[in-house]
Amino acid sequence: MQQGANLPGLGSYNRSVVLGAVQISGGISRVEIAAMTGLTAQTVSVIVRRLLEEGLVREDGSEPSSGGKPRTILRVAPEAGYAVGIHFDPGGLHYVLADLAGRPVRTSRSPVRGDHSPERLTARMGTAVRRLLAEAGVPAERVLGIGLACPGPIDQPSGTMVHPPRLPGWGKVPIGDLLRAATRLPVTVDNDATAAVIGERWAGLGRTAASLAYLYLGTGVGGGLLLDGRIYRGRSLNAGEFGHITAVPGGPPCRCGNLGCVEAVCCPDAIVAAVHERLAGGAGGTLAAAFRRDPSRVGHARICAAAAAGDPVAAQVIGEVAAHLAGAVVTIVNVLDLDLIVLGGPALGPAAEIYRSTIAEAVASRAFTRRLRPAEVALSPIAADAAAIGAASLVFHAAYAPDPATLLSQGTRRP
Ligand SMILES: [Zn+2]
Repeated sequence: MQQGANLPGLGSYNRSVVLGAVQISGGISRVEIAAMTGLTAQTVSVIVRRLLEEGLVREDGSEPSSGGKPRTILRVAPEAGYAVGIHFDPGGLHYVLADLAGRPVRTSRSPVRGDHSPERLTARMGTAVRRLLAEAGVPAERVLGIGLACPGPIDQPSGTMVHPPRLPGWGKVPIGDLLRAATRLPVTVDNDATAAVIGERWAGLGRTAASLAYLYLGTGVGGGLLLDGRIYRGRSLNAGEFGHITAVPGGPPCRCGNLGCVEAVCCPDAIVAAVHERLAGGAGGTLAAAFRRDPSRVGHARICAAAAAGDPVAAQVIGEVAAHLAGAVVTIVNVLDLDLIVLGGPALGPAAEIYRSTIAEAVASRAFTRRLRPAEVALSPIAADAAAIGAASLVFHAAYAPDPATLLSQGTRRP
């Protein structure tokens, strides 16, 4: 949990710390907030009174305490504000309308077609956001902003995508400004995997773990880090690119410029290519007949389902991919000494349990600290939604819960 600071001039920061404590607790007393944040009882009391007046927090019942009078429980008022989260993956767009408690109120998805120039794509996002709000019956005035999770690398402060490897021809795209123009709402842009770990912190498994790594399997392979209760972003705010750890020295070239990256051998395209190569070489199994008729019918989703059902070719390829991921995860755990590894993202599909068990087995048998304090490996309960929910929560973080490091370094990071 973030600690408050009992110093003058940090009022808005302490306010965000208190609101953050209420948000992730699901119900908490003033005394517990003081214990959790290190703020004095008086400071907590003043901030809570203001949050109550603003309607962001409400009192909701009480619980007995040892000795004194019963303690009033505080919860966020979910309908006090909304945010739209958009997860932009080169394979598709995913929209979530979330309330202040982090609950998805309404979601929608649409494919990204071949004509995705930045202007056309952001115009389409604007249309989709208006439709989402209309369907949910939420007026635009109640929406605090849009959080947009994009493939990296991004220049986060300016909301610019910088030569995303999977979107050839995009160069430097000020996607935050374009989306702001298309929607007339405030827009916060972040890296997709960082957004996913923020979503996990807010609404998933990250509520209880202090240090976790999030391994995100989508069109590419990404990651995010929560270290000692704080999102770790790195110098250029692009930390956690686990997909670009070398898995096969001297292996196939990766779009990032490195060789044999985890992403180059574990992404859906690589899985499909590996299965097709074996089927073309005469391998049998349940996919062979479909492959002979039309190779395009043996796609990633079908391969994952076949692997889960025990097809030998699909299971072998997914097993090899899981082993590469497991090797990377052992390295990550050894470097960072984590409590938890969360696996998420749309590309897990029906093979999710194969990945989880292979990685868990590797961490339990090969990680440096395994006998001292084994790290847990778990599937995200909000797997497919994590990046979009996290993107929505960026809006609340920007509006109510700025990271103190961001506040303190704002002057130095901006050009
Ligand atoms: Zn790479």
